[in-house]
Amino acid sequence: DPRLQAISDAIRVIPHFPKPGIMFQDITTLLLNHKVFKDTVDIFVDRYKDMGISVVAGIEARGFMFGPSIALAIGAKFVPLRKRGKLPGKVVCEAYELEYGKDCLEMHVGAVEKGEKAVVVDDLVATGGTLRAAIKLLECMGAEVVECACVIGLPELKGQNRLNGTPLYVLVEPT
Ligand code: 5GP
Repeated sequence: DPRLQAISDAIRVIPHFPKPGIMFQDITTLLLNHKVFKDTVDIFVDRYKDMGISVVAGIEARGFMFGPSIALAIGAKFVPLRKRGKLPGKVVCEAYELEYGKDCLEMHVGAVEKGEKAVVVDDLVATGGTLRAAIKLLECMGAEVVECACVIGLPELKGQNRLNGTPLYVLVEPT
């Protein structure tokens, strides 16, 4: 797909952010380019539009930049999965590992119903720990996670292995 090279080229790499040694993949430059942003969303929309998906779940914060556009285009609802303490209603919560310590991803109770088919969206998968927590939240409410969708994958961290068999779809891998 010729669109993938342009997507890859539109992602800015910022060395040593947020700390020394990290090569941060910055998708805000992709969002500045209307054609590339639209192509990114369109690739996901074409993939998911005829799969009976009724839920697009986006992970805070950068999953919120892609998920709602995908949800609107495929006729699904958008469900925000947020960091601890941000959602005002009753939540279910799932802990996940950070580099130092733990955090928790939360979803509103009642946001999804038993048997619904969901896609989880984020900008980037590294270790897969965040996606793993997202999958658990949806599954514990009875939804089926058909696939996780990310713009960027870091294959050397083997994120797919942490998803308990849920498929992972990524558009680009930094070289
Ligand atoms: P994981 O849980 O797979 O180890 O980390 C993925 C999460 O960390 C995602 O929510 C993603 O937004 C964030 N993340 C980690 N590294 C980067 C990076 O280099 N660029 C961006 N945009 N997000 C990152």
